[in-house]
Amino acid sequence: MAVSMENGVFVLALLVASAFFYRSIARLRQAIALGQPADRSDRPKERWATMARVAMGQSKMGARPVAAFLHLLVYVGFVLINIEMLEILADGLLGTHRLFSGVLGPLYPVAIGFFEMLSVLVLLGCVFFLLRRSVWKVQRLNHPDLEGFPRKDAYIILYTEVCLMAALLVMNSSEAAATGHGFFVSNHLTFLYTGLDIHTLHWVERGAWWFHLIGILLFLNYLPFSKHFHIVLAFPNTYFSKLTPKGQLDSMPSVTHEVKAMLDPSYVPPVTDIPARFGAKDVNDLRWINLLNAFTCTECGRCTSECPANQTGKKLSPRRIMMATRDRAETYKPEDGLSLLDHGISREELWACTSCNACTEACPIGIDPLDIIIQMRQYIVMEESGAPLGVQSMMTNIENNGAPWPFAQADRGSWTSE
Ligand code: SF4
Ligand code: SF4
Repeated sequence: MAVSMENGVFVLALLVASAFFYRSIARLRQAIALGQPADRSDRPKERWATMARVAMGQSKMGARPVAAFLHLLVYVGFVLINIEMLEILADGLLGTHRLFSGVLGPLYPVAIGFFEMLSVLVLLGCVFFLLRRSVWKVQRLNHPDLEGFPRKDAYIILYTEVCLMAALLVMNSSEAAATGHGFFVSNHLTFLYTGLDIHTLHWVERGAWWFHLIGILLFLNYLPFSKHFHIVLAFPNTYFSKLTPKGQLDSMPSVTHEVKAMLDPSYVPPVTDIPARFGAKDVNDLRWINLLNAFTCTECGRCTSECPANQTGKKLSPRRIMMATRDRAETYKPEDGLSLLDHGISREELWACTSCNACTEACPIGIDPLDIIIQMRQYIVMEESGAPLGVQSMMTNIENNGAPWPFAQADRGSWTSE
């Protein structure tokens, strides 16, 4: 009877958690679908290879080797350890205990021992990351961009991972203390339970089992609201990332047609190609890939620490560009009178960008903040004629003289006469 009641509670917890998770994912899909179409279905082989290299292989993390190693450890460890979650699910559904031990036979203690070792390493990695934020105060992790929820979010995730790993070790070690059969790490932790009787040990083990299970389900439901959802979105994001040379800016097809028509009067631009709005004022003018980028951003700040505008004290931070885009996409309402431009991202930030592309190069998961900046500038220039004075006179010079300087083409060589 006790087992069937436990089963019932387990199934109920699973159903509720799955329903909430489904709702969060639907919300996220809806937010990304606000964006304009962008075709990223070309060169699939190259896309799979990029995903394998950048998301799975974490190839762009190498610039900071210690953080890269620990990040890989926490990431791989956490994913592998959750294989044990499969057993917890199976046990919970079937009312069994350590179901896989019968399936794996002598390999079972080896596998669980390996997971236990990973749990200790993940735990140590999380402690290192906590120290980096709270004691060593690494600058990019204590930047004003992260004021409020983003800073709390990082701590919530790290403390949760520490608790989940600890619960796994308590579950196994209390069982080892009760039965005399443990695994690689838990065998060495039985001293923690000296003096406890078998009944208490049973409750400690069950408590840790439930804590781990409920913790994982809560964690799963928290993820879509957190920057840590990048552990999932990094895969599609790198798959759909830009394959053309990073410095190549996308030209607007409608403008290309206009130029072609100017050069060749017989060329007729396709009417359907003219967009409702040039450039982007709000998130629904951006492309869906820009919004996927925004939801994938880990807020690591590597882009901002490489940004020359930010380094020279300008207001621009590419990380904040991504965070503002995500925040607006999450709360977007067409009739609220707000827009990403001015209410999320200021013109000062947009015009501080040198379009050097250092942010895109630095991003470990293929995010392109420059693409958003360029589209918003396009809106300011083409819809509002609102470029700063210096940019306006440069554009006039290019139009009149074929160069950014205020001299006629015929006078270009004049300086040589002196
Ligand atoms: S492209 Fe712009 S935002 Fe990106 S690093 Fe260069 S200046 Fe900063
Ligand atoms: S855009 Fe990339 S580099 Fe910048 S904060 Fe986000 S994940 Fe980090």
